[in-house]
Amino acid sequence: MDWDFELFRHHGPLGLPFHFWTVFAFLFGITAGSFLNVVIHRMPLGESIVTPPSHCPKCGVQISLFRNLPILSWLLLRGRCAACSQPISPRYIAVEALTGFTFIAAWLRFGENSPGSAIAAAILLAGFIAATFIDFEHFIIPDEITLGGVGAGFLLSLVAPELHRVTTVLEALRSSASGILVGAGVVYLVLRLGKLLFGREHISLPEGSRILFHETGVKLPDKNISFEEIFYRKSDTILFEGRHIELADRCYPKATIRLSPESLRIDDETLSPQSEPYLAAESDSFSLPREAMGLGDVKFMGAIGAFLGWKATLFSLMFSSILGAIIGVSLIAIGRQHWSGRLPYGPYIAAAATAWIFGASAVWDSLFNR
Ligand SMILES: [Zn+2]
Repeated sequence: MDWDFELFRHHGPLGLPFHFWTVFAFLFGITAGSFLNVVIHRMPLGESIVTPPSHCPKCGVQISLFRNLPILSWLLLRGRCAACSQPISPRYIAVEALTGFTFIAAWLRFGENSPGSAIAAAILLAGFIAATFIDFEHFIIPDEITLGGVGAGFLLSLVAPELHRVTTVLEALRSSASGILVGAGVVYLVLRLGKLLFGREHISLPEGSRILFHETGVKLPDKNISFEEIFYRKSDTILFEGRHIELADRCYPKATIRLSPESLRIDDETLSPQSEPYLAAESDSFSLPREAMGLGDVKFMGAIGAFLGWKATLFSLMFSSILGAIIGVSLIAIGRQHWSGRLPYGPYIAAAATAWIFGASAVWDSLFNR
């Protein structure tokens, strides 16, 4: 981005200076960031993102429009609610500023040649910000973002051929369609394959070992593992073949046991783990859930393909796994490897796709296309 001073004169849409629109992108971005804060807070809880109007999460008082100005209000109130003076998370101002700078970046990257691509890129990056913050906290990316992104990406291809690096609308639509198929398809394959190869961590136990489940975790002969370390997602499931299985009020000679945060299955019988305070069994192996990716990532990559085309999805898959490996090795180096299972995969994909938008696509071309 060289500072071409011509761009301060009349070179942007509607005959206005290009950098008028750069400033506009920032102001629009921080406002969009304010909305993303609502999305990040409410969408995973299944609440409406439109009503009720913004209110303080601590005291519930409604926040007036004047007190709800992006960035400024947080600074003026020094990060506290005007009514109850309780601190408001710095995440709010961070998301607003990040979105503002992201929109500037999208404008500087595409604005001159293809304003439509700048808008589409800004929408995609806003989706990345929401997905990243939600995934870190809840280990899901809501369908509204992923499936909504598939639809939005396909439609925006009509005005954003540059984002697909093609010249005609027809080519852009074709790129979007193949991007959805390849993106979702390839992550789905990796997910299936991963389940077969290393979806679970097996723990071998001495024959006839006693496994005891208590309120907060699992007691094995040589160690205690807390449920907090095992269950990150609702779908995570402990699986083992047990003998001499005892519940509080009955026993089973032999059965396959599957325990997830929300269900306990003994062969085909489904019980609620909350109503079974005691479970003990004999077994000589034990498997714990360890999955990097989920179905949400399949849909997420489909959305990335819809915006950026199929090459971007292959790049994002490869580069995200490299990023994941770097973070994994770094965590081992600082003695925090137990964190790695707690990191969702979506943010790595978003980071890789962002790299694609801002230059990695050119590197790909120089490697494979010429
Ligand atoms: Zn308050």
